[in-house]
Amino acid sequence: MFSQLQTVATDPILGLMAEYKADPNPNKVDLGVGVYKDEQGHTAVLKCVKEAEALRLKQEDSKTYIGMAGDLSFNAHIEKLAFGPAHQVLLANRVTTAHTPGGTGALRVAAEFIKRANPNATIWVTTPTWANHISLFQAAGLKVKEYAYYDYDSKGLQTEQMFADLNTIPAGDVVLVHACCHNPSGMDLNFEQWQRFTAIAKERGFTPLVDMAYQGFGSGLDEDAAGLRYLADNVPELLLCSSCSKNFGLYRERIGAVSIVAEDSKVAEIARVNLLSVVRSIYSMPPAHGAIIVSHILDSQELTALWHQELAEMRNRINDYRQLIIDKLAAEGVSQDFSFITRQHGMFSFLGINKAQIDRLKAEFSIYMVGSSRVSIAGLNHSNIDYFAKSVATVLK
Ligand code: PMP
Repeated sequence: MFSQLQTVATDPILGLMAEYKADPNPNKVDLGVGVYKDEQGHTAVLKCVKEAEALRLKQEDSKTYIGMAGDLSFNAHIEKLAFGPAHQVLLANRVTTAHTPGGTGALRVAAEFIKRANPNATIWVTTPTWANHISLFQAAGLKVKEYAYYDYDSKGLQTEQMFADLNTIPAGDVVLVHACCHNPSGMDLNFEQWQRFTAIAKERGFTPLVDMAYQGFGSGLDEDAAGLRYLADNVPELLLCSSCSKNFGLYRERIGAVSIVAEDSKVAEIARVNLLSVVRSIYSMPPAHGAIIVSHILDSQELTALWHQELAEMRNRINDYRQLIIDKLAAEGVSQDFSFITRQHGMFSFLGINKAQIDRLKAEFSIYMVGSSRVSIAGLNHSNIDYFAKSVATVLK
């Protein structure tokens, strides 16, 4: 039976990672993978996480299952983090949350949940979007369509085309919107655009799915959730998929959450049992470790303060390097306008250079980025930024 299988293409980023690993050049630079790195090029465990892990080791007295919804204390924390502690959807018991294996697990559970609610739903994603959005929704059996989003020419949003596309989407369909730090472009909706998005969602009656994989990486924890909070204030229902991979640096622990906001508490209760039955049929119950770490951090004022500080360090380092890229390229005599880099947020930016230039950067300078010219800014540090700027300036000449 297995010999009938055809081979499948792997995600190009995995191939790029393998090439980077095998490259003997001591000056090589990895700008591919979306993982935060510090000035030493290391993805360290956050101090607040280390402390919470020590606490867990001391306090945990059982390894019994934690239930389909996962860790209830984590779920309550993550709802408050996303919506703000006194949001009307929380006060009215309109939200139900399950913790999931990563943000990816949250998206897959959301997809199965959508299919139960409307088997004919199409999910609309931004052009472009995180490549795995498309494959995971299709794998769950949902139809996927795209709406205009990023404008490669102006290096901003295709604002009017985006709203025109959204204005064609019917009730019963789902529209995925990135809460902040859009992957791959770094270009986010501003508040006025969130207001327009919300007005259209309300008028057309489609259901928004907010993917929040980078809360705190853009402008701050509350700032990055402002669009979501406004949307939740104004539409009857939405789905939220959150991830603690980036903001808590818990990548490999696989911790995220799916939250359903329903029109009232009665519908939320029906949503809850459906959500749990979806979970039961996929992986039964989530792993506990990541959720308990996050709970311990958010239970403690001290650990929360430490987390805020460490998150701000990561955010500020990325934002400092956004400005540094512009300054260093200008110092190398590049006349092309790269000012758009500081208008983008989060882990990524599209440099906007062409395929031949990207290939040359890899072949001649061992600088690795994905084919769209998306760069993971945190791959830059004091020891490679000058080399990076010089190399980019050379291929732009
Ligand atoms: N959504 C987006 C937009 C992402 O970029 C990512 C991670 N790359 C995820 C979801 C999933 O994150 P996780 O690693 O928690 O599964």
